[in-house]
Amino acid sequence: MTLDEFIIFIDNNEFLQDINLSGGEVYLRDDIVDMWQYLDCKGLATAVTTNGVNVDLIKRKESILLKKLSGKNNRELQISIDGLGETHDFIRGISGNYEKAIELLNWAFRKERQYPFFKVSITHNITPYNYHQLSEFVKYFINFGLKPSQISIKVAQTSSLLYDNIDTYEFVNSSRKMISAVEGIQREIPYYRHYYYTRLIPTFLENSRKPLIPCYAGFTICYIDPCWNVYPCSFLNTKIGNLRDYNFELKKLWETDVIKKVQDRVKKGLCPHCWISCFSSPSIRCDVFSLLRFGIRKLIQRDL
Ligand code: SF4
Repeated sequence: MTLDEFIIFIDNNEFLQDINLSGGEVYLRDDIVDMWQYLDCKGLATAVTTNGVNVDLIKRKESILLKKLSGKNNRELQISIDGLGETHDFIRGISGNYEKAIELLNWAFRKERQYPFFKVSITHNITPYNYHQLSEFVKYFINFGLKPSQISIKVAQTSSLLYDNIDTYEFVNSSRKMISAVEGIQREIPYYRHYYYTRLIPTFLENSRKPLIPCYAGFTICYIDPCWNVYPCSFLNTKIGNLRDYNFELKKLWETDVIKKVQDRVKKGLCPHCWISCFSSPSIRCDVFSLLRFGIRKLIQRDL
């Protein structure tokens, strides 16, 4: 994926409403600032999730970007933190990662005061190795200065496409204990009880093979890898096609026979199943009934 190709892609698909550049660690790209700046000049919000490992590089690139952004569109920096102190370092396999993530969080707090369009948040993967710390973790970061809505929690999942962890990661044997941990935090902090996505995490853990809402992957959502291969999502390893063969126009790819087969598969629930906000949130927005339930919940939690 070159910057020139990226610009053609954006220009040829102006109907797209959300474009999330994700990694890996996207700050490693030399042209990432240019990519975000182009999205911003097209009127789109930009966001990043980072592991915070190369904290100096991240601060340098983010500082350059913040000065270049128009200020008309939101910018969100989300830091992955999977536990307190050594738990995070153990899960990430990098000694000292937690300390760097906290350094980045403090830096981002200062930038939030400087740039009104800039927001910071953290994301936390619940795994069999850290569920026991969930309550302590969330309370710690609330005391740190984050609101519950700035601490997103999700179940770490497997993907042959994105994580290559099918053979090395399994949560099913710990799912009962993980459910108790999530229900505990839902009892303590109303936000996690009312927010539609987190409310359904225990249901997902109960039976991760059962679809919770109609999924729109392959319909209104897709995942594009760095070589322009297009998939319905980052979990369903079924290639729809390569955008280089379609002049970077998604609509052309959506007219092929392959997409019909993929959509049929998703509709029948013949996929690995997942419950992560990157795919469930856009699906909620596309589904009238989910949207109604989400809207009602949003009203209830307005004052939380
Ligand atoms: S439920 Fe998840 S795994 Fe299945 S198609 Fe949708 S996004 Fe992909």
